Amino acid sequence: MSGLQSNPSPTTSRVNPANRCKNKPLEASHYVAPSDKELLEIFPEAREIIPGKLKYWQDKKNGIKAWIKFNLRLIRTTVKDDFSRWFWREVVKTEVKEALLECNKQIFRLTRLNQGAHNTPLKELHLNMDKIEQAKTAPIIEIASSLVSRLRKTGRKYIGLCPFHKEDHPSFYLYPETNSFYCFGCHQGGDVIKFLELTHDFSFKEAVEYLRGGKEK
Ligand SMILES: [Zn+2]
Repeated sequence: MSGLQSNPSPTTSRVNPANRCKNKPLEASHYVAPSDKELLEIFPEAREIIPGKLKYWQDKKNGIKAWIKFNLRLIRTTVKDDFSRWFWREVVKTEVKEALLECNKQIFRLTRLNQGAHNTPLKELHLNMDKIEQAKTAPIIEIASSLVSRLRKTGRKYIGLCPFHKEDHPSFYLYPETNSFYCFGCHQGGDVIKFLELTHDFSFKEAVEYLRGGKEK
């Protein structure tokens, strides 16, 4: 596997899932939007640079996705035995996990700021039950697959290393049928909204908006 490319976009921003073990309430200090919005009021010209910044992170994310695709194809075509394939797939996932998470966070933050800049503050996009139900249908496997190491299918569920506490033996389960997760190690569990609240430090509302892909209706 000497052809494995190096990580195109390493990030210094580290998410420490170990800190999220406890089911603590989200504090105001985790919420970056108000200060960003205040900055926009002080420096209105900053609005001009949001679309450029957004494009930067979207391009970066696309670059990472292309990198993953390239390496997975490389593994598929050059690695013969199952164990080595699994091993190299894990290497690829681990390599980009944090960079991808950072991209998602920045894209979400900038999209929200962009909406603010166009006079549709998020607080006015009230949540109704339809939106919440719609958000809950976002496949948890897709949301979680880049954040759960050593993820593999076992019967009708998936098992992997818990993103919320440190462990060597997988005890974290994803249940596609109920679109939910549960960890038998730290007893963290819930639906796809809860998963994002814990991994991204999102509020409930932010998680719903994120899962709906910024759709208004
Ligand atoms: Zn756990």
